[in-house]
Amino acid sequence: MISNLQTRIFLRPSIFRLWTSRGIQTTINSRQNYTQTTGRQRLVILGTGWGSYSVLKHINKKLFDVIVISPRNHFLFTPLLCSTTVGTLEFRSIIEPIRNTGFRDEHHFQLAEAVKLLPDEHTVLCRSSLNNDEYPLKYDKLVIGVGAVSNTFGVPGVHENAFFLKEIADARKIRNQILKNFELAMQPGVSEEEKKRLLHFVIVGGGPTGVEFGAELYDFVKQDVTRLYVHEKSKVSVTLIEARQILPSFDEKLRNFAEKKMRQREQFELVQSSVTEVHSDHIKLQDGTVVPCSLVVWSTGLAPRPFTASVDLPKNANSQILVDQYLRVKGINDGSVFAIGDCSCIEANPYPCTAQVAEREGSYVASCLGLLAMGQASELKPFSWKNLGMLAYVGDYQGLADFPTSKLQGFKSWILWRSVYFTKLGSWRARFQVPFDWMRTFIWGRDVSQF
Ligand code: FAD
Repeated sequence: MISNLQTRIFLRPSIFRLWTSRGIQTTINSRQNYTQTTGRQRLVILGTGWGSYSVLKHINKKLFDVIVISPRNHFLFTPLLCSTTVGTLEFRSIIEPIRNTGFRDEHHFQLAEAVKLLPDEHTVLCRSSLNNDEYPLKYDKLVIGVGAVSNTFGVPGVHENAFFLKEIADARKIRNQILKNFELAMQPGVSEEEKKRLLHFVIVGGGPTGVEFGAELYDFVKQDVTRLYVHEKSKVSVTLIEARQILPSFDEKLRNFAEKKMRQREQFELVQSSVTEVHSDHIKLQDGTVVPCSLVVWSTGLAPRPFTASVDLPKNANSQILVDQYLRVKGINDGSVFAIGDCSCIEANPYPCTAQVAEREGSYVASCLGLLAMGQASELKPFSWKNLGMLAYVGDYQGLADFPTSKLQGFKSWILWRSVYFTKLGSWRARFQVPFDWMRTFIWGRDVSQF
């Protein structure tokens, strides 16, 4: 195994020491380009999200040796993540193992995270998930697709007491906490006041993630809590807090429809305010109001990942890496580094931070790299993206569909929401599992086992 790795990767005298995710120690010569050892260029891709996964699927693997660095060995279909927080869908139904994409060598996926970029040396410093050891990895071409994290705006207590909703692990924690709170509220001797606190769920941020999580929670309460926790259902409440307006990127008519639906719902409150403190059993609002609650889901905008923050290159006001119209990172003149998705921004033409944009950028970079490797640079065209529309679920079989040419709301949009995401799922396994989960939930209800 070691000799295989060495043959394919590093046969030259030692200057750097490299630890792979399996802890195999081998060596590389920092002065040699990888191309010189294999004949193929080494493409290093950071991340396994929408952008990076799209590069991986579209890249011509005959032209490149592709190495993927990510702390996550799967791709996550984020548009359906909210559905897993209450068990409408199961976690594994919306992830794809990255190894299914056909690596040339099993060591070409490394469970690690990039910590520093050294562009002059064509090297990225990585931290292994095995033992936190740092090792340098050389590249001929690099694609940065590390995404972003939720912005806490420096509000005290968010990191310690709130839940984020970006990864499968976050959804699992939220689901367990919700179910635990229901069981705790059912314990004998719990006061009425404590029951209300335990069953009060707060969502901070009225963007699509906050609204869709609220929608899933509403469905769970309406369809399962009423069946399983009959005596306590009236004590359940959900509060969505948004400083401005909900779903700001959607058409006004659709926004108003969503807001009206939410306001009609008993036990669901929409509050226009800002959260100033988050504690384990309450939050504080801008006007000083103390709101007792048991779970806070924080979903307010984007902030850079530590790696993006560490990169010493031109950035915009949101700390996104600036790229040119070919998605090449500004400030790196040899064009060897590309940045895509939420961590980047095209200076001349900023696009929204969505899966749609990240996926399109990924396939574009894959085709650019192919043309460059084949010496057809003159055929490169600047990146362009056409908005195909936005969809959102607002609960109770009601959806929103905001297309450039038409705006739809209600039951038909919900059908559309499900149909579009069903067709966008990346594999036949997922296309089997997701409808199976939907059917199971419809017939038997959600699984409320806590584990
Ligand atoms: P991501 O998909 O976030 O992937 C980042 C990757 O980088 C991950 O694999 C991560 O593990 C990895 N990584 C992190 N740090 C490092 C590091 N230091 N080194 C190496 N790898 C690293 N968009 C839509 O268009 N439609 C929707 O319906 C929609 N719904 C959403 C619902 C939810 C709940 C969420 C959270 C987002 C939703 N989005 C939606 C937004 C969409 O998911 C993002 O815009 C998209 O994921 C951005 O893709 P990306 O490739 O930039 O980053």
